[in-house]
Amino acid sequence: MNLNPDTASLIAYIGYLVSIFLFVVAIKRLGKVKTARSANQMAAGAMALAVVCTLVELGTIDYTYILIGAVLGGGIGLVLATSVQMTAMPQLVAVFNGFGGAASTLVALSLFTAAEKGVTLAEMDFQGEAGYMTAIALVLSIIIGAVTLTGSLMAYMKLSEVFGRMFGKPILLPLRHFLNIMLIISVLAMTVAWVATTSDPTLSVNLAIGITVTSLVLGILLTIPIGGADMPVVISLLNSYSGLAASAAGFALNSNVLIVSGALVGASGLILTQIMCKGMNRSLANVMMGGFGGEDTSGGGEKSEYVNVKSAEPEEAAMDFEDARDVIIVPGYGLAVAQGQNAIKELSDQLKKRGCQVRYAIHPVAGRMPGHMNVLLAESNVPYDELVEMEAINNEFQKADIALIVGANDVVNPSAKEDKSSPLYGMPVLNVEQSRMVFVIKRGLGAGFSGVKNVLFEKDNTRMIYGDAKKVLEELTTELSESDN
Ligand code: NDP
Repeated sequence: MNLNPDTASLIAYIGYLVSIFLFVVAIKRLGKVKTARSANQMAAGAMALAVVCTLVELGTIDYTYILIGAVLGGGIGLVLATSVQMTAMPQLVAVFNGFGGAASTLVALSLFTAAEKGVTLAEMDFQGEAGYMTAIALVLSIIIGAVTLTGSLMAYMKLSEVFGRMFGKPILLPLRHFLNIMLIISVLAMTVAWVATTSDPTLSVNLAIGITVTSLVLGILLTIPIGGADMPVVISLLNSYSGLAASAAGFALNSNVLIVSGALVGASGLILTQIMCKGMNRSLANVMMGGFGGEDTSGGGEKSEYVNVKSAEPEEAAMDFEDARDVIIVPGYGLAVAQGQNAIKELSDQLKKRGCQVRYAIHPVAGRMPGHMNVLLAESNVPYDELVEMEAINNEFQKADIALIVGANDVVNPSAKEDKSSPLYGMPVLNVEQSRMVFVIKRGLGAGFSGVKNVLFEKDNTRMIYGDAKKVLEELTTELSESDN
């Protein structure tokens, strides 16, 4: 582009301001299911605008590598985004976070060798307040970006169990705390040495490489002891890190749009992490120490000795639904696995036709991400006002005729309230057992994400309806509609 440099800078500056504005509006609109789709498009548009502005600002450059990168990256993103299952979303987010972290580290490292006015950063003396600020921003971008990269890849491999189920569980290495502390101390020591000795280019580059490699190892070691139900929390935290790394790179590059967009990702990732921790009643420190879900607790899982579990066939259960006036449905991860969102809507329409009140109880950590159930049910056009948050619905169960639990497990486990020795103790759960009847649709007596036994299945008023959620829901709907005729 052959624009006068001042004009190009002005155009880019205005464009950056517009994209910052769009990012802020988009993140606000992402908070509601109704506006989330358009908000996502708005954020993507803002990102495209920021990229174009950067190119305008750079002026005449060789576009070959930029085009190759855009086509390759865009192509991979398109394939992943269109093929990924909703239940595999945390893994996809993990990969995106990792790439975000890698980008920040690479940008910061590239500044070392990019000759600006004939001097490479490695040769520059970061003296003076502004110089120190740039040096610290650069090194933070490298450290946080590298930890995010390997931490996210580790989280991805654990969640998708690429090396088997055991890999998904916490792996507690001996001396891990000592190792982590040593690595953190050496990163800090190298950082101080680097900021203090920037006038020696060779030492400077070597220290930058040392900081990068140590941070990469740290990312692996910090994530490896975490597993099972804690993994989505780690992914959300790494999401926040990827934003912080980008923001730090923004300070080093003097790019306002990168500072603001990175800060938005950093803050929203932290808020999401906090929501998850609250939903599980765990502190972030407790999650980061790892080890949760490592052993087979309470004999959980299929092997456990459940006693007095009563089951019902869909046609028997349908008889209770025929008379019900107030039904509360609790969706969980299994509903997403079975892709039963349309089937659940049809059953609830059938119940409503018979004059029954139907509401959905939404636990903050049902599924694999906050909002997972809201998005799933929105896909089948369940009215938003039928979705009720846990705090608002928990006192309603005692008045309900039926609590219908569909593929949920941990979020309805009464041990969280009753059994101090349970790993789930203290987690806020839905009071489903207070309903007159409880029906639980799941394939067997398999444990939930936490691996803990669920005493709800042994309660007197509970009936298990075994089978794939979608299939059972369809059978229930058929039974109810046939009883009409
Ligand atoms: P759970 O993971 O506790 O249980 C899901 C149940 O679904 C399983 O017990 C399984 O039982 C059943 N299931 C699986 N496939 C099917 C199918 N096709 N049809 C019917 N049932 C099926 O899910 P919840 O939603 O209750 O709990 C979420 C868990 O995730 C909690 O432990 C929470 O702490 C954790 N978590 C969630 C986060 C979030 O933000 N949402 C964040 C961090 C953690 P079976 O094999 O017998 O069928």
